[in-house]
Amino acid sequence: MRLDCSGMEFEKLAAFAKEKEIDRIKQLLGRKGCKIVIVTHKNPDGDAIGSSLGLYHILKNAGHNPQVITPNDYPAFLKWLPGDKQVWRYEWAKSRSDKAIKNADMIFCLDFNDIRRIEALGEQVEKSTAFKALIDHHIAPVVETDFTYSDQEIVATSEMVYHFAREAGLLEYLDKNAAKCLYTGILTDSGEFAFPKTSAETHSVVADLMRLGVDNYAVYQHIYMSFTPSRLKLLGTTLSNLRFYPETAAACMTLTQDELDAGGFKKGDTEGFVNYGLSVKSINVSCIFIENRSEGIIKVSLRSRGKFSVNEMARKYFYGGGHINAAGGQLATTDMTEAVAVFEKALEQYRQDILDSDK
Ligand code: 5GP
Ligand code: MN
Repeated sequence: MRLDCSGMEFEKLAAFAKEKEIDRIKQLLGRKGCKIVIVTHKNPDGDAIGSSLGLYHILKNAGHNPQVITPNDYPAFLKWLPGDKQVWRYEWAKSRSDKAIKNADMIFCLDFNDIRRIEALGEQVEKSTAFKALIDHHIAPVVETDFTYSDQEIVATSEMVYHFAREAGLLEYLDKNAAKCLYTGILTDSGEFAFPKTSAETHSVVADLMRLGVDNYAVYQHIYMSFTPSRLKLLGTTLSNLRFYPETAAACMTLTQDELDAGGFKKGDTEGFVNYGLSVKSINVSCIFIENRSEGIIKVSLRSRGKFSVNEMARKYFYGGGHINAAGGQLATTDMTEAVAVFEKALEQYRQDILDSDK
């Protein structure tokens, strides 16, 4: 089935793509059988895996040889996606990944704006002489690539992969498998189509993906209705640890390694917990600290309502980054009291900005 894009407004992207040498991409992909590596960020989420596997199917259907490589593993609720079995995790497949990167004609970097987000995999990508392309929606990318499609106004990298495919003349290769992956990325990164950057264009893309056969109910069941009992128990622990800072319109949650172990934690179990803080009317910033004892770190996730940028807070206090309303980072400590103290210090600095965030 061919997609009908008549009536959709893609002028902005068309101009952008011309500027950024989409023709060069078309020329490179004009030959069949290109060796293409697709990489995405550490601890991949629905958009990272959805965009990577979506592009994987499109390129495969177009007669190329794509390979998705992630720095590490990802949650079970993403493992039903078509093509999942073909993904290599760098932590488990280092030598064949290094070889594939070395021999690649093209490398696509998806859903990250800083090479440090792919850790050791980044060194190999930087060394490679392959043609490199970045498709990403984070703020101010600093990844060196030959082709850059960066737009922080788009809600999900998966939506950008759709636009990219259209501009590169690859839309005819977007099949039902690719559509399921891209739909999943858009669904998860848009907060089930609720976040402000969800646009009419997002819905137009989603409509096309549904026309290709995506079953929205089935995807929802896989992503949001397949949790383990341990997740609910851990949510209980997290909420019992929740503290409010009414004078700064903030909320903070914590989970120590001991609490994770007691709750039977599995990867992905804590996804979305940070959002609960923001469900309270007067709260404009929510934060969760999660200890990872084996890595000797505490991971932080931050969310905001309105114009206050947690990206800025994550960059300044937590060696991280992300988007205005969703960001993350980490601290090189396993001392939860210390981590919370850093957050409290940040709150002091940004108090007025946070209070004014939703004004
Ligand atoms: P989450 O809180 O869901 O892990 O991540 C929210 C957003 O922040 C995502 O867009 C993600 O890419 C970004 N992010 C999360 N952790 C880090 C980090 O350690 N460094 C940077 N630069 N970005 C992060
Ligand atoms: Mn994303």
